[in-house]
This record gives sequence, C-alpha cells and structure tokens, in this order.
Amino acid sequence: MPSTSNPIALGIVGVGKIVRDQHLPALAGNDNYRLIAVASRHGKVDGIANFPSIEAMLEAVPTLEAVSLCMPPQARYTAARAALDAGKHVFLEKPPGATVSEVEDLRRLAVTKGVSLFASWHSRYAPAVEAARSFLASTQIHAASIVWKEDVRRWHPNQDWIWQAGGLGVFDPGINALSIATHIFPAMFITGATLEFPENRAAPIAAAIDFRTAQDLAVSADFDWRQTGPQSWDIFAETDRGQMALSGGGAKLVVDGHVVHQENEAEYPALYRRFAEIVRSGTSDVDLAPLQHVADAFMLGKRRTVEAFID
Ligand code: NAP
Repeated sequence: MPSTSNPIALGIVGVGKIVRDQHLPALAGNDNYRLIAVASRHGKVDGIANFPSIEAMLEAVPTLEAVSLCMPPQARYTAARAALDAGKHVFLEKPPGATVSEVEDLRRLAVTKGVSLFASWHSRYAPAVEAARSFLASTQIHAASIVWKEDVRRWHPNQDWIWQAGGLGVFDPGINALSIATHIFPAMFITGATLEFPENRAAPIAAAIDFRTAQDLAVSADFDWRQTGPQSWDIFAETDRGQMALSGGGAKLVVDGHVVHQENEAEYPALYRRFAEIVRSGTSDVDLAPLQHVADAFMLGKRRTVEAFID
C-alpha cells in the first residue's frame, strides 16, 4: 500500500475521450499521483511509457501501484481482473462493468488481494449534489422526477461500443442521473419501464422508467438521446419545504426559485481525491445501485422498436 505521503504510481488504460477531457487534466499537478504509464491500442500520452495492452504494462512496470480503467464497459472486467491479480488498486470509470455480477466478482477479488477497488460515479461528485441530499433529508418528498435528455450525436460521435450490447445506449448518460438519484433519494425500486431501441441498434435510444420507494414515493425518469438544442440534466422534487430543482447535471440547486448552491464542476479532481483516500485507508468503494437499476430496467422494461439511428 502506498505511504500516506508518497504519490501513488498510476497507470491509465483506454486513452479516449474521457481520459483526454478529464483524467489527464485532473491528474496534472495532483500531488497524490504520479502518472507513469498508459496502455491503449491506439491512444498515446506524451512523456510517459506507452504500452499496447494492460498485460504488457503490468509486466514492464512492476512499480505501478494503481490503474484507472477507462475503456468501454464491455472490455473492463478482463483488464480489472488482470490488475487486481497483479495486486494493483483499481479505479473503474462508470459504469463499473457490463454486468452486476462481474463487478461483484471484482469486489471479492479486491478483498482477497488486499487492494482497493473504486467504482467511480462522477456525477455524484457534482457540486450541488450534497446540498440537494441535505435539503431532501430535511423534507417530506411528495413526488420526484428525473429528466436526462441530450443529443447523442453531439456527445458520443463515432462511439460504436455505446450502441452495442453492454454499451448501455441512453443509460450511459442515464446512469449518471441514477448515480445522483440513488444518493439523494430513499432506496427505490423499478415498477415499470419502456425502452426504445432503434431498429438498427442493440442498445436503447430512450427509456421511460417508473420507480417507487418503500415509503410509496413515486419517482419517474425520462432518458432520451434525441434532444437537440438545450440539453436537460435535471432532477426535480416536490417537497413540503418547496419545489427542488437540481439542474445542470448536479451543478445547481434551486428551491422555490431561489438558488441554494451553484458552483463550477470539478468532478474528476474529487474522484481522484476519493480514490487516494480509499487507497490510503485500505478500503474499497463499490456501490452497485445505479448499475442494478439499469439491469432491472432491461429485465422489467417493455421494448419498443423505433426508427433506425443513423450517425
Ligand atoms: P472512447 O472515447 O471510445 O474511449 C475509450 C478508449 O478505450 C478507446 O479510445 C480505446 O482506445 C479503448 N478501448 C479499449 N477497449 C476497447 C473496446 N473494446 N472498444 C472500444 N474502445 C476500446 O470512450 P470514452 O468516451 O472515453 O468513454 C470511456 C468510458 O468513460 C465509458 O465507460 C464512459 O461511460 C465513461 N465516461 C465517458 C464520458 C464522456 O464524456 N465521454 C464521461 C464520463 C465517463 P484504444 O483504441 O487506444 O485502445
């Protein structure tokens, strides 16, 4: 385990959009880490060791202490297993895997190996999420809704994996909403769902989901990837202390029209702080509730075939 003062020697696997947009900037100048290697078939990072596969990286760089796995979920389990087997701490991008049971298996392996496993949920670290959680904890919630609608062409150009089985389709952004909802609302269960699949794709482009809590609170979720123009990443709640709107993907909290909390997002620096914390305390952080809801939506949801999606 790394000492409390030495930077953690880190490798990254799967150099694509999220690595360039978020991981590399969050790690630049971060004293908790020393990024020493990457493994990617095509992507490269200048100034450090580059390898074509995680196996090659693990073999060539025994001083690695931890790895961040940023490839698509369908390819994550094998890489995570290799890293845990080699005694490395593992940071999993969201969603943590392609199935619930494979992540459970990784969780067990991390315990056996005495290393830390982090199922990261970046949206949970959006700046107004904790304020929303505190507000809701002091209220009676009468009803709640999630509206997560974005333009897939704008955010996921040329990402074939996202449309394949295990890529989750519209649940790739939708699971971000669920990672917030499962943090701020009481435990909820899916009672019905409709998933819309383009006739030429293996993953849904839209989903409407109904949840209920044990206290009989109804929560609806509307996910859609066909929204052009303004994008919607909002969670609403009707409460006995007013109407709550958590908007901008968790960046802004408004109650009855008054801004309660608004701040620029810094989700990935917060994720890496959390990862260093669990590595140094010898613990893991693996909450599967958002992924379980997605699995349940696929299990309980009705399927509708809709018009083909052309990139
Ligand atoms: P991406 O741009 O497609 O990059 C992923 C990289 O993983 C690819 O460039 C590829 O690099 C590598 N890879 C390894 N195995 C692969 C496989 N079987 N199929 C395709 N690529 C493979 O995807 P991304 O947007 O960075 O997303 C990666 C993960 O981050 C996803 O789980 C996503 O949900 C999550 N995430 C993305 C965003 C976002 O805004 N894009 C935000 C938050 C989280 P090589 O070809 O070099 O191996």
